[in-house]
Amino acid sequence: MTTGADRTWNLASPDGTPSDWTDGTPALLVSHCEACGRKWYLRRPACPSCGGARITRIPAAGRGHVAAVTVAHRRVRGGDPIGIALVDLEEGVRVMTRCRRGTTVGQAVSIAIVSLNEPGETSSLVPMVL
Ligand SMILES: [Zn+2]
Repeated sequence: MTTGADRTWNLASPDGTPSDWTDGTPALLVSHCEACGRKWYLRRPACPSCGGARITRIPAAGRGHVAAVTVAHRRVRGGDPIGIALVDLEEGVRVMTRCRRGTTVGQAVSIAIVSLNEPGETSSLVPMVL
């Protein structure tokens, strides 16, 4: 019998699984459950649909359409307002990303991983709508 205590929680990819921007690697990855086919964004130790632990992480092309846009005016560490967009990727997952002023809902976009070099950030790499 397998319990949660038996599971290996490899959130920082020391096991050789591909790294992404959250690990400091300029890549955007999509996770794919080998058991049920569900896809999702950002690393999880198990499939959110079936709990399966056989997960493949593949690079995303970074192309999609903007589903929503907002501006964050009150930032934790101060600074200028930042644009935030939700983008539905061609791979079938939704990604939260930074965006520039003028980004609109429905717009076809590409996402790149960029370094913003903002002081106090846990990672200087972020997804950004081009
Ligand atoms: Zn699954």
